[in-house]
Amino acid sequence: MDDDIPYLLLTPGPLTTTRTVREAMLRDYSTWDVDYNSLVNDVRTQLTRLASASDDFTTVLMQGSGTFAVEATVGSVIPPEGCLLVVNNGAYGKRILQIAQRLKIKTIEAAFRETELPQVEIIESHLEQHPEITHVAMVHCETTTGMLNPAAEIGACVKRHGKVFILDAMSSFGGMEMSMESMSADYLISSANKCIQGVPGFGFVISRRSKFEQTQGWARSLSLDLYDQWQTMEAGGGKWRYTSPTHVVRAFAQALSELEAEGGTSAREQRYTANQRRLVAGMRELGFGTLLTDALHSPIITSFLFPTASFNFSQFYDQLKARRFVIYPGKVTNADTFRIGTIGNVHPEDIDELLSAIAEVSREMDISK
Ligand SMILES: *Cc1c(COP(=O)(O)O)cnc(C)c1O
Repeated sequence: MDDDIPYLLLTPGPLTTTRTVREAMLRDYSTWDVDYNSLVNDVRTQLTRLASASDDFTTVLMQGSGTFAVEATVGSVIPPEGCLLVVNNGAYGKRILQIAQRLKIKTIEAAFRETELPQVEIIESHLEQHPEITHVAMVHCETTTGMLNPAAEIGACVKRHGKVFILDAMSSFGGMEMSMESMSADYLISSANKCIQGVPGFGFVISRRSKFEQTQGWARSLSLDLYDQWQTMEAGGGKWRYTSPTHVVRAFAQALSELEAEGGTSAREQRYTANQRRLVAGMRELGFGTLLTDALHSPIITSFLFPTASFNFSQFYDQLKARRFVIYPGKVTNADTFRIGTIGNVHPEDIDELLSAIAEVSREMDISK
């Protein structure tokens, strides 16, 4: 593989970044230095602004992949005697449940099939039957399937019951228009290497101050103590506890300015939507059906069904990779699928090239057999 012709990652993160984002990492920073710390605070402010125009919210960054930020949130913002209702319709909903159970937090599961939209009536009845529930957690775009969960509707229901709403918007924030207000979210979690198009290394949590301020001392972990991390960032003008991913933060600041230059979240959502529609239309012409109906889809990632029972995915994957396109295996439990992401520095022309490559590989492999 020629290093100058990078793979096009058609995955839900890490994803294809721009050369300028990668180049931003060619500089060393000290974590103690004011230049770096003020960059961190700029990033925090910009993230808060992407999620809300109001001063009711604040952003804290946390080292690690997105899951670390989810674990930091679940482990830090639920009081010792709290109870978490987890909406589960895929691998990432299930992961929230696993995190809470591992931390010995009392949980109730609202389980749905992976191809099923979570129903607000069922969430409502859990909330009515279990007054001990204090918090509700859900994934926005369930990256397992590509399904867009009804976060605004369920958030409104959570608020009607006076509970705290935690939204894992990992794979959608920055790539789809949303706000803390429109989702009724108290905590919104995402990471550097998803729709803001940075490189992996940290996650972030946008929090409602009035709720967050009450959480001191609740954390079940030292390094993932979200409140402590927040207090250090506030007091130290952008200082992290422990070593922070300095190069990644710098790349992320560049990615944020490129998001703005593109026209913000709405322009990015339009590009991702154009990518996804073109992909689905082209794939259907080539004989690949989608797992979900169009109405359930996000513009983020799409699950395609194997065209035949004998479809050789690993050969298909390798053949596409040899043509520089890196796709993603499936994650659905009871259907044979693979996934193609439409986020990152990926444009409709790239999708056209991908479709030509898939047509070629399909002919060579004779996938109808
Ligand atoms: C990517 C993702 C995560 C975090 O995954 P990591 O591999 O830990 O970065 C969590 N939730 C959703 C919905 C995701 O798409």
